[in-house]
Amino acid sequence: MAQTTPNHTQTVCGWAAHDPSSKVTPYTFKRRENGINDVTIKILYCGICHGDIHQVRNDWGVTMHEITGLITKVGSNETKFKVGDRVGVGCLAASCLDCELCKDSQENYCEQMQLTYNGIFWDGSITYGGYSKMLVADHRYVVHVPENLPMDAAAPLLCAGITVFCPLKDNNMLDLPGKRIGVIGLGGLGHVAVKFGKALGHHVTVISTSPSKEKEAKDCLGADDFIVSSDAAQMKAGKRSLDFILDTVSAYHSLGPYLELLKVNGTLVIVGVPDKPMDLPSFPLIFGKRVVKGSFIGSIKELQEMMDMCGKYNIMCDIETITLDKINEALGRLAKNDVKYRFVIDIDAEKP
Ligand SMILES: [Zn+2]
Ligand SMILES: [Zn+2]
Repeated sequence: MAQTTPNHTQTVCGWAAHDPSSKVTPYTFKRRENGINDVTIKILYCGICHGDIHQVRNDWGVTMHEITGLITKVGSNETKFKVGDRVGVGCLAASCLDCELCKDSQENYCEQMQLTYNGIFWDGSITYGGYSKMLVADHRYVVHVPENLPMDAAAPLLCAGITVFCPLKDNNMLDLPGKRIGVIGLGGLGHVAVKFGKALGHHVTVISTSPSKEKEAKDCLGADDFIVSSDAAQMKAGKRSLDFILDTVSAYHSLGPYLELLKVNGTLVIVGVPDKPMDLPSFPLIFGKRVVKGSFIGSIKELQEMMDMCGKYNIMCDIETITLDKINEALGRLAKNDVKYRFVIDIDAEKP
């Protein structure tokens, strides 16, 4: 992991997986100096996204893309942030700033979009998303965290939150309440989707393979209904009952039975990422004029919009906070879905 870029002079202590054993251990690397458009951030918390398991296991390096912290330095071109500001950094590190998508605040779909982890920044350096104590980021990819949100429980909003926010926004769920929404899967993404749906005034049904999650979904997260997807009678009773479904499940499944739950003209948006293609039967599509589409995080403008909405409704993630020495244990538990609902690393609690 040699760093050759000349202005990368700041040594940073981080933690990364170096071999396929996927154990995360300390290492040092270089970050760039704070440029004119940059802000330097002292990292306080970092969420562990489900995608991180794959990243670590496949030795793609480490990923850190649900980051909250405090601004410690601002570049001379920078007016949006000042030292001491509470900020967040999500998945995006850079984009071309010039294409139609970038100009239209859809830079998350820019062909030259670079992620916070294992992306290539404009200066040619690798964007180490590695768990570390500081980060230099271009200010255009940083958002404010509302004062009323705790920095730990706000961190996962930067990936999990935005991932479920944009499908709701794109399908007119932000300003038109009273829709019937289905959320497939009650994990890191799903639990935030339920909170968003309820805050926005919708009727929310959780659809899950685990009957044991019903009480939690209703009592703790405020879901109105619960359908056990393996129960044929429940699935039949739910036919044509939903306007919109958000599919957050990353394990292989057929979309057919879920499409039957949609009303005519209903839409299902996929945000989970199964590693095999999913079964998409044509009958429920054709005989219900239904739509299936995907969605990938959101733009920085939308990220700020989501953060502000969370501030307004006091929405945060349900988290379990850990220190860095517990990270390998946490990754193991995450692989078994043994967390409610997101691990967040207390980065600042660790000694260098
Ligand atoms: Zn993520
Ligand atoms: Zn672009």
